[in-house]
Amino acid sequence: MARVAFIGLGNMGGGMAANLAKKGHDVRAFDLSAEALERARAAGCLVAESAAAACDGAEAIITMLPAGTHVEQVYADSIFGAAPASAILIDCSTIDVATAKRVAEAAQAKGFAAVDAPVSGGIAAANGGTLTFMVGGSEAAFKRAEPFLADMGKAVIRAGVAGAGQAAKICNNMILGATMIATCEAFVLAEKLGLDAQAFFDIASVSSGQSWSMTSYCPVPGVGPETPADRGYEGGFATALMLKDLRLAMAAAQDVGADTPMGAKAAERYEAFAAAGEGGKDFSAIITALRET
Ligand code: NAD
Repeated sequence: MARVAFIGLGNMGGGMAANLAKKGHDVRAFDLSAEALERARAAGCLVAESAAAACDGAEAIITMLPAGTHVEQVYADSIFGAAPASAILIDCSTIDVATAKRVAEAAQAKGFAAVDAPVSGGIAAANGGTLTFMVGGSEAAFKRAEPFLADMGKAVIRAGVAGAGQAAKICNNMILGATMIATCEAFVLAEKLGLDAQAFFDIASVSSGQSWSMTSYCPVPGVGPETPADRGYEGGFATALMLKDLRLAMAAAQDVGADTPMGAKAAERYEAFAAAGEGGKDFSAIITALRET
């Protein structure tokens, strides 16, 4: 078992660090929030006084932070100066592709092996150790990161070179945002045409309209498996996080000149839904906005 620094113990990082500790790793945890630190202590982590102190003697350094600015700052101010050169640096945050590449280049210039390893799966998967990791970095860096990621998830997949993990994540979530809206609008149209929602689900979920948004995350309460729709759209994957990922996808598309009309429309719809005060609701709640129009 290894000494692991874990920086960023929020909704996701808290559960991930706890799972590493449960697997027997010596986890040195740091967060700016005293509450998060207390939770980490209760979960079997050793609380560090600073991000730099957490990195002292670590074999792996994992970050799970809100956005690219936080990652870049923590790497520059705390990790590069304190981590042993032999440490593998693993950033699991969802950040923009350009920053992920910049951070990887800076790490490489300082002699570190580094990967971007964003996740699919929400808080329940982070707590349950069932995340999927999409990893960007060299083959050698991937091999070093893999055992640590495997201790926090059910699948660890190399997407390609540095930044490719973030690219895979935002492309996947762009599909998710667009298919959720398409699924919601189909249910609303079906309702208005007098079709029973259960009957439509039974047909579409085994026909060509099938998608994860339909079959595994149905936005209509009482239809399909249990989803946030059955809990008043509480929990699940917040609209604000879907919007974050769609904004990252749109920024990346602009950078490389990719035409993403459905992604742009989904971003626009989620932007309006969040601006209406619904950012905390599960992203499938967008069906309620479509019903109103
Ligand atoms: P969160 O806001 O709950 O946690 C972030 C934590 O980072 C906070 O506890 C904060 O105090 C800490 N932090 C910020 N700056 C810091 C610094 N300089 N040093 C130490 N700690 C610092 O966010 P979250 O929901 O845990 O999400 C983390 C990342 O995971 C984000 O990039 C998010 O997009 C991604 N993600 C979240 C979900 C989800 O369902 N919540 C799913 C997939 C991916």
